[in-house]
Amino acid sequence: MAKRDYYEVLGVVKSASHEEIKKAYRKLALKYHPDKNKGDKASENKFKEASEAYHVLSDKGRRANYDQFGHAAFEGAAGRGGFSNFDFSSAFSDIFGSDIFDDFFEGFGGTRGRRQRRSSNFRGEDLRYDLSISLEEAYYGKKQEIIFSSSDRCMRCSGHGSEPGSKPISCNTCGGQGSVRSSQGFFTIQQTCPGCGGSGEQISNLCKECKGIGKKQTRKKISTNIPKGVDDGTRIRLSGKGEAGIKGGGDGDLYIFVSVKPHSIFKRSEENLFFEFPISLANAALGVTVEVPTIDGGKAKVKIPPGTQNGKQFRLKGKGMPIMRNREFGDLYIQAVTEVPVALTKEQKNLLEEFKKLEDAKTNPSIKNFFEKAKKFWKN
Ligand SMILES: [Zn+2]
Ligand SMILES: [Zn+2]
Repeated sequence: MAKRDYYEVLGVVKSASHEEIKKAYRKLALKYHPDKNKGDKASENKFKEASEAYHVLSDKGRRANYDQFGHAAFEGAAGRGGFSNFDFSSAFSDIFGSDIFDDFFEGFGGTRGRRQRRSSNFRGEDLRYDLSISLEEAYYGKKQEIIFSSSDRCMRCSGHGSEPGSKPISCNTCGGQGSVRSSQGFFTIQQTCPGCGGSGEQISNLCKECKGIGKKQTRKKISTNIPKGVDDGTRIRLSGKGEAGIKGGGDGDLYIFVSVKPHSIFKRSEENLFFEFPISLANAALGVTVEVPTIDGGKAKVKIPPGTQNGKQFRLKGKGMPIMRNREFGDLYIQAVTEVPVALTKEQKNLLEEFKKLEDAKTNPSIKNFFEKAKKFWKN
């Protein structure tokens, strides 16, 4: 079956804002979420389709690629953002990371048990780190040290907040349930207990080290590998490197959002590079071998044949960017741009005047061709 257009899937126009896309996805996800449509394959497919569309359109880089190349942007070569390993729940938690959503489904008798709720409540926050690198760095990949503010689990109480040797007591707001119920219209909504945050416990004797918080703020320094071929908009996930979880909750993740700075020469489109290369009128006519820069800092020879027209492209195979998780490289395209000479000296002018006298239909076939068409046009 042909893949539906992502904008169509979400029911938004191509110029939709990020907020509109988010809103449209939220609506569809609520409608088709598997927790709400148990065993209904059609709903599940709709949910996946919407999640995939949101995954692409919610990200600036992916959306730009999609706008330019359509579904082809994510097909073909392995590791270029195909959806075979796409985790639908990640797009989902992107937007529904809040308790509101868990509560919503509990109201419908969803599957999220209290145990899971507990750990997700106390899971550490995911963190975002914005990293800007040059195109050369994206070409070679690099070891990147990053310093950021985060939290570490308290060693004294292992994140539980109770002074070692003391035991927490049952929460007196929820009676140890971790949640409280309230009625809203037709639904009974179960909400996380505001008294204990869902743990069902109250600390009787606060840990001396963290004062019961279970973690403490710190500056972290980690070193990570930025892979070769990383593109603008790539998101690198470092599992468990986010904020520390407390009360048995897991650690959050650290996401590195990579942006690649514009380059003074090379323009990039996925794995290919491009630049315009100016050549003189004489060289375009006579032909010439030129040396052009390559992204690895080297030079490549390009043979410009006699009679090269303005705008002609030349492809240098394998001189583009490395393809992530792949040993292949993209190509470098250079486009010849003829520079018409300016500020001529008298001698140069005279030579061109001489040349002009010798120009004919053979040297300038396009001109001849055009005027023949124009003549016919004027006759009619
Ligand atoms: Zn409570
Ligand atoms: Zn502590």
